[in-house]
Amino acid sequence: MNHFDLKGSELACEEVPLARIAEAVGTPAYVYSSATLERHYRVFHDALAACPEIGEPWIAYAVKANSNLAVLTTLARLGAGADTVSEGEIRRALAAGVPAEKIVFSGVGKTAAELAFALDSGVGEINVESAPELELLAAIAAERGRRPAVAVRVNPNVGAGGHRKIATGKAEDKFGVSIAEAERLYAEAAKRTSLRPVGLACHIGSQITDLAPLEAAFGLMRGLVERLRGAGLPVERLDLGGGLGVPYFNQSDPPSPADYARMTAASVGGLGLRLAFEPGRVIVANAGVLLARVIHVHARPDGRRFLVLDAAMNDLIRPAMYDAYHDIRPVKPRAGEALAYDVVGPVCETGDTFSRARPLPPLEAGDLVAFMSAGAYGAVMASEYNTRPLVPEVLVRAGEFAVVRRRPTYEEMLAREPLAPWLASPRSSRP
Ligand SMILES: *Cc1c(COP(=O)(O)O)cnc(C)c1O
Repeated sequence: MNHFDLKGSELACEEVPLARIAEAVGTPAYVYSSATLERHYRVFHDALAACPEIGEPWIAYAVKANSNLAVLTTLARLGAGADTVSEGEIRRALAAGVPAEKIVFSGVGKTAAELAFALDSGVGEINVESAPELELLAAIAAERGRRPAVAVRVNPNVGAGGHRKIATGKAEDKFGVSIAEAERLYAEAAKRTSLRPVGLACHIGSQITDLAPLEAAFGLMRGLVERLRGAGLPVERLDLGGGLGVPYFNQSDPPSPADYARMTAASVGGLGLRLAFEPGRVIVANAGVLLARVIHVHARPDGRRFLVLDAAMNDLIRPAMYDAYHDIRPVKPRAGEALAYDVVGPVCETGDTFSRARPLPPLEAGDLVAFMSAGAYGAVMASEYNTRPLVPEVLVRAGEFAVVRRRPTYEEMLAREPLAPWLASPRSSRP
């Protein structure tokens, strides 16, 4: 459930009409609901905490899904930790008030500088994804006199996720090590005086709408925990990653957090493990919309009808990148029989098509539309392609709203690009 609903005759975020935000901030713009963020975090947390076999979960919100500082601060105030994949994300989490010990550092390519930064920040866990990374971390930790808590990221070879580009748990994917390799690596880590192996981690994909692959992966993780313990190696923690899907289509209902919690409790509960979770999408996706305005309706003689918006693939890349579906709703409902629109942005490539033949009520230039469920992997993946200013972000709380990332001015954008010295002074061209 979310807090984007009709208020009177038009779409609002909590108590603020979206048209009012468009008026104040301009379009395109992302709009997030504090109430939805808070609700999703609480529902996810409470479902897990309600299972006695799980106990108090460590919820490390996956920062990459939406890393806006105001969003992170909203979640940090509810007790969220953070799953981070770069120094920049660690810095964001710390700036938002996430305690260092609640931060997990994941990723296949952490640089020496990033590992040093993570160690000096005192993050709560570093998830190691390969043998060379273990070596690098052991050396840097020794050099700095640290002994970080380390989990080995396992690639359980289980396929899952809404699109091939976001499945991460198959043997051919770049993430983690095989179960056999994990046993070896964990024993290796235990021999290093500069490392403290505390457990295992896995994350098999995103937008998972079926519990079966998660259950299969968790079962394999349980077996591995038991084997390591059987070999005399202590295992205290299990990080189960994120990946739970959200409803983008009205027809598909992904498993609820309660179903997910019950499955988790049955698979890996009761082992005396501290369980960590890294939800991203399920917390933020339905807490945000991308607000856009219709520039033109371009009806072609062949019957095609293009709805040309002021938002483009650089603002929301999911349809171009993952063939993702976003519900598109007019902000002020329009009467009339639905027409089929090709919904496109102004960017100069055909990939800048949000949807083909989408049935929508008759729309006109100047109308506002909202891309629903755009809170995850939306603003974070935006770029300035075509020299379009980075899309701003707005946070709503009840009847108030605030710009939490402003749109840069063109002057700011151009000022970031100093000329090379040999181009700075005017010079006539060669003869
Ligand atoms: C992306 C990612 C997540 C979050 O995935 P969601 O599908 O957004 O829940 C969690 N953990 C890791 C390691 C990730 O890379």
